[in-house]
Amino acid sequence: MSARLVSRLRDVVGDAHVLTDADVRAGYETDWLRKWHGTACCVVRPATASEVAAVLVECSAASVAVVPQGGNTGLVGGSVPRGGEVVLSMQRFTALGAVDGAAHQVTAGAGVTIESLQRHARAAGLDFAVDWGARATATVGGAVNTNAGGSRVVRFGTMRAQVMGLQAVFADGSVVTQLDGLPKETAGPSLAGLLVGSEGTLAVVTAVRLRLVPWYRETAAALVACDSLAQAVGLLPRLRALASLDAVELLLPEALSLACHALDVAPPLDPASAAAFVMVDCAAHDDPQGELAELLIDERGVLAVGAQRELLYRIRDHVTIAIGARGMPLKLDVAVPVHRLDELMAQVRALVANLAPTAQLVAFGHLAEGNVHVNVLGAGEAEASLRDGVLGAAIALGGTISAEHGIGIAKADWLERLKGPAAVAVMRAVKQSLDPHGMLNPGVLLT
Ligand SMILES: Cc1cc2nc3c(=O)[nH]c(=O)nc-3n(C[C@H](O)[C@H](O)[C@H](O)COP(=O)(O)OP(=O)(O)OC[C@H]3O[C@@H](n4cnc5c(N)ncnc54)[C@H](O)[C@@H]3O)c2cc1C
Repeated sequence: MSARLVSRLRDVVGDAHVLTDADVRAGYETDWLRKWHGTACCVVRPATASEVAAVLVECSAASVAVVPQGGNTGLVGGSVPRGGEVVLSMQRFTALGAVDGAAHQVTAGAGVTIESLQRHARAAGLDFAVDWGARATATVGGAVNTNAGGSRVVRFGTMRAQVMGLQAVFADGSVVTQLDGLPKETAGPSLAGLLVGSEGTLAVVTAVRLRLVPWYRETAAALVACDSLAQAVGLLPRLRALASLDAVELLLPEALSLACHALDVAPPLDPASAAAFVMVDCAAHDDPQGELAELLIDERGVLAVGAQRELLYRIRDHVTIAIGARGMPLKLDVAVPVHRLDELMAQVRALVANLAPTAQLVAFGHLAEGNVHVNVLGAGEAEASLRDGVLGAAIALGGTISAEHGIGIAKADWLERLKGPAAVAVMRAVKQSLDPHGMLNPGVLLT
């Protein structure tokens, strides 16, 4: 059966774009963390929505499920096969439309990387609002499907807030195109709204109409040392009053120290000198240094402009990479109402101390959203109980088990505890009606 399917897929996309060789498939079969792995029937690389539609029809006829894949930087195991599926790589969807300066919008193919999109927007004097460390590889389609967040959510919202419309191919091969980008249209529920965050389980996104934002070229950052997490949270009202506020990131001492060590740079502040570090970034048309410097009159910290600011970002972006270089961590992406962040971290620390006393806890995140990435290196056999303890604590504090990475296969067994049976029943009903044979990313999001 799979030989027949492969031959049909070759007819659809051409020989060169159906990859069956084990060595060539390997990079598509293992995730970024090297934690999840499965063998694919083959990797298929279509270039148009009608090719995607034909691929889905062929896979459906052969009863072989499909795993959509963008840049494969996802951190919850949702972009790699579990065993025998076709990996549908979207890397050839690299078209970028002309920037619409009047509407502040652009249409991007699903395989366009976030970095290419940023460059394209900046060439027209605008910018793309969502940014994070994996920008060089992560794609627009992946970002839509995980509702990616990153560092600028405090100013511009998550990926959901950037999507003005999209084109998507459904499991039965039907193609829906909504790329007009009308800022106002009330004609039924939003299809884009439904697909954002659906992790490749409802449709394959082929193109997206995106909002662009002003490109603020004048920038200044600061790293503020805080004696407690509560003090860090206490900075937020003053930070939010800054008109140029662009990012408020949290680095706990272990994260600052690990990233600086991996980059072989001197930490801008001694990691041992504080309980938490807040990286504040400001961007505006006029130099924001003055307003940021005023903040520092009352706080302990350093102002960073030009190369110094770039270094702060390099350090911040490098934390995930530095953790990965140390080993395979237990990686959790939780968020709580920001006033409860201190309680959450106290519980996380107690869990690690009780369940895996020799393990290393490295935590960092996006302070303004109460979003912390909990990484535990060397948890060994305590990994499952630690995971359950941290996820349970986040829910009990009114938070979520996934702020920006998605549920994937990593946390599918926890979805009902987070959302409740009624909400999950609605999600199942939507899945059943759009993908009745479970062709798209089975096992991801919904068990
Ligand atoms: C170093 C590092 C730092 C990171 N920092 C952040 C961060 O700050 N914030 C954040 O939000 N994320 C972060 N991530 C996670 C990751 O980059 C995002 O989840 C990103 O959106 C994934 O994009 P991708 O193109 O790599 O998608 P993939 O990993 O390929 O796929 C992710 C999910 O989307 C689905 N999918 C992909 N493309 C399509 C498509 N066209 N149609 C339908 N489904 C599709 C896949 O099936 C999968 O379920 C980080 C990752 C790394 C490695």
